[in-house]
Amino acid sequence: MSDTDQINRMQTLFAAQKAAFEAERHRSYRDRLRDIDAIAALTKKHAEAIKDAAAADFGVRSRCETQLTEIAYMATAAKHTRRHLWSWMQRKRVAIPGNLKPGTAYIRREPKGVAGIISPWNYPFQLAFSPILAALAAGCRVMLKPSEFTPNMSALMASMLAEEFNEDHVAVFPGGPSVGEAFTKIPFDHLLYTGSTHVGRLVAKAAAENLTPVTLELGGKSPVIIADDFPAEKAGETLAFGKYMNAGQTCIAPDYALTPKGKARAVAESTIARVEKAYPDWASDEDYTAVVSDKHFERLNAMIEEARSAGAEVLQAKGGTPGNARKIAPTVVLNPPDDSRLMQEEIFGPILPVLEHDGLEDAMRRVNAKDRPLALYVYSKSKKTARRVLEGTISGGAVVNNTMLHYSVEDLPFGGVGASGYGAYHGEAGFETFTHARGVFEAPVWHPSRLIQPPYGKLFELATKK
Ligand code: NAD
Repeated sequence: MSDTDQINRMQTLFAAQKAAFEAERHRSYRDRLRDIDAIAALTKKHAEAIKDAAAADFGVRSRCETQLTEIAYMATAAKHTRRHLWSWMQRKRVAIPGNLKPGTAYIRREPKGVAGIISPWNYPFQLAFSPILAALAAGCRVMLKPSEFTPNMSALMASMLAEEFNEDHVAVFPGGPSVGEAFTKIPFDHLLYTGSTHVGRLVAKAAAENLTPVTLELGGKSPVIIADDFPAEKAGETLAFGKYMNAGQTCIAPDYALTPKGKARAVAESTIARVEKAYPDWASDEDYTAVVSDKHFERLNAMIEEARSAGAEVLQAKGGTPGNARKIAPTVVLNPPDDSRLMQEEIFGPILPVLEHDGLEDAMRRVNAKDRPLALYVYSKSKKTARRVLEGTISGGAVVNNTMLHYSVEDLPFGGVGASGYGAYHGEAGFETFTHARGVFEAPVWHPSRLIQPPYGKLFELATKK
């Protein structure tokens, strides 16, 4: 379908979803459970097809990583949502001031209406289905615009969802930036965007025209701060896990590491040693993922070359030479200059700069001098030190002594701050994102508030006296 046809279809289906929402403003608990179960069942039924589609889109995409990060993740998220939906849907009573008594006040969580979701390519299934799950649990209708870089997954998601949902409930609009741009002009009741900070700004601007509330799940340079008391070997183990999963194409991958003076080499070498164990022959290993496109492949290679020519030492895992697959050796760069692309841009690939700090204050100052990151990782045996770093920095989320694990805790809101985005989802935070908190005050038929109405007199003075 051409982009123009896709844009026309978008407008027709938005009107259809709006009408369907108006006809069923409060989707029942039972029907929402059905929707959640449908998402879980589709994920299970098409697990192999999801792995095939990811592999076709990336060239090489570890099937185990697709199982872990896309399929198993969604199964857990659906289970969590199913278990808690009833309590999330209950109205929450709040206290009222004495001079408003008698009466009751409570918050009703009401579906916002038609939700728009724009998803990226790096975890193309999960980053589309997880917000869809949240929007359906909230009782919304959903329109999805997936990434043009993963066309196989977009086609699969469209056909999967069509098995269980009419298009006036959930609809998919594959296409590139022009489809994305048209999508952001639709007056959605909520828009959740996951992707780069640059496009995030455009999305927020377009949505502002319609006063559409937006959740921006963006990226950035997520740092690792390593304290003096933390063993280099342990650091290398968790850095290798966080950095080379999906070949570093993860929004919360550790972007760069700041180690104590004199420890950078030990951390770098232990990271490489660990990754060589994980992928003994990364070039041919089906569990070491390729870079998604030629453009990204060239960008990452240029970053390594720039650091090398600036005199930085480049360490790469042994393991053969890649053939046609867009694979980049797991790489660590020791002390790249501050003005290099590696230290200025979000890397989003399998390259880890390791630098040295002059103590924790210096590390925090350097982190705070950059945009607020999506995640921050602090490594220390001392809880006090970890707390000091958490207090001295700001980030969307954080993990102590490891990387990325906070993502899988459904009860933690997931989102950025500053340039890494605003708003959050996962678990109840996702339910809250796609619902409106309607504050209701229920007064009895006779209520003393009539005392504060004109004509003002003695009773008024008594009622408002402080
Ligand atoms: P991207 O911004 O290039 O694309 C994301 C989506 O936006 C795609 O669907 C794309 O078609 C669409 N798009 C492009 N131009 C648009 C426009 N003008 N208007 C509307 N939509 C448009 O991002 P990407 O390269 O796919 O993803 C990588 C970035 O996403 C990284 O910065 C990464 O950190 C971030 N990310 C964040 C999270 C998170 O949860 N916070 C998760 C994954 C990725």
